[in-house]
Amino acid sequence: MMILVLLCTYTLLQSNAPQDYKQLREKMVIEQLEARGIHHDATLQAMRQVERHLFVPSPYQSYAYEDRPLPIGFRQTISQPFIVASMTQMLDLSKDDRVLEIGTGSGYQAAVLAEIVAQVYTIEIVKELAECTKKLLHQLNYNNIEVVIGDGYQGLRSAAPFDAIIVTAAPEKIPEPLVEQLKDGGKMIIPIGPTKGMQTLKLLKKKKGKLVVQDLMHVRFVPFTRKNR
Ligand code: SAH
Repeated sequence: MMILVLLCTYTLLQSNAPQDYKQLREKMVIEQLEARGIHHDATLQAMRQVERHLFVPSPYQSYAYEDRPLPIGFRQTISQPFIVASMTQMLDLSKDDRVLEIGTGSGYQAAVLAEIVAQVYTIEIVKELAECTKKLLHQLNYNNIEVVIGDGYQGLRSAAPFDAIIVTAAPEKIPEPLVEQLKDGGKMIIPIGPTKGMQTLKLLKKKKGKLVVQDLMHVRFVPFTRKNR
């Protein structure tokens, strides 16, 4: 009989001294973010603060501050730092905000948001990944992040409406329940497009019940999957 053991891929053991990672993080902020137009103070502060190397599998720790996405197991990826910072900056968040994220993955984007806002709700469809990430965020003392296992298409009605919604997997169309759960005056950032090929990162603003949609840039995210449709 074969027993399949699913292990969390992150480790809190660090392969270099914390001070070395701090220097790499500072270099990342200067060269990959500030140099490319990230200027929102709270976003830059959060990118300096969150230890990205703790969110990636141990063999990738030393690449954590490079300008690229990395595999996190379960056929998923953690986005490139510049994409995380750009999406965060575009939401123009403030400290009292409540934010919904769809696609928890490693928990890195959730942690960046949690440094800025009051409360983050994040939904992950892959149960084992959600459970690993929940443990990691707990160990890192992120008490203002709630990880929910489920299909993010439905949003999270019990905690709605949200000041902002961020989707980090790409559906072909904007999920209607998410639009409904956005506050008036709120913003949503979401990649839209085919599962294979390029998608367009869109910024949606809800104003007096109407949506204003702005196309931002071409991106490549993992597919937005559905279960129990
Ligand atoms: N924000 C993540 C990036 C994760 S990649 C990070 O910082 O690491 C996108 C994630 O979205 C994957 O983990 C994938 O399993 C998840 N996902 C895809 N479709 C989903 C859905 N319908 N609901 C919730 N999560 C979904």
